[in-house]
Amino acid sequence: MGAMHLFGLTGGIASGKSTVGARFRARGIPVIDADEVARAVVAKGTEGLAAVVAAFGGRVLADDGSLDRKVLGNLVFADPNARATLNGITHPRVAVETAARQEALAAAGHPLACYEAALLIELGLADAFRPLVVVDLPRPIQEERLCERDGIDRAEASRRIDAQATPKDRRAAADFLLTNIGPREELLADADATLNAITDRLGLPRQPAVV
Ligand code: ADP
Repeated sequence: MGAMHLFGLTGGIASGKSTVGARFRARGIPVIDADEVARAVVAKGTEGLAAVVAAFGGRVLADDGSLDRKVLGNLVFADPNARATLNGITHPRVAVETAARQEALAAAGHPLACYEAALLIELGLADAFRPLVVVDLPRPIQEERLCERDGIDRAEASRRIDAQATPKDRRAAADFLLTNIGPREELLADADATLNAITDRLGLPRQPAVV
């Protein structure tokens, strides 16, 4: 099995991470999405979901026995202690599942993959995923895009943004900083240039362009 390099992609909520991650994918780079992994470890019928119910009670379950993410989200966004409890359940399970996916990609012969996560610097993981790509944007644009994407009001958007790392911490940890203030096409061009720089830096062939 060849060694595989996993580089990081992070940024605040609604910064444009998924847009960049989708671009990397379109250029043939597998992306392990921490959000998706986090959903998988508490999917219906998992031991992870049982642990969440043990901590928060049956009120976090929907009628069909799956996790009611909205109820849980409201509980943890409003309460830092509840958030810490939930993170204590999910983060170790996410780490195990991420490692399993990483091994599967390495076994499949991929030399390079991306780990996309909103919380990465916050968890002290920046150095585990070098080079680290950070997507950043000014707060007013972030609030606007978040409100529009998730259909929430400005106060709720502000609360969710405040629950994350400060942009200053993120910028300090970045090897590549993408500032997403222009049109989408500009972000995609920056993502392309960044991916080329990463493969160059690692001595890997460049990935084909998206046509
Ligand atoms: P994240 O994954 O960081 O939460 P997304 O990639 O989902 O962020 O982007 C947040 C929202 O902003 C999405 O609705 C996305 O389509 C939109 N968006 C991202 N970049 C731009 C841009 N440069 N111009 C306009 N809208 C954008």
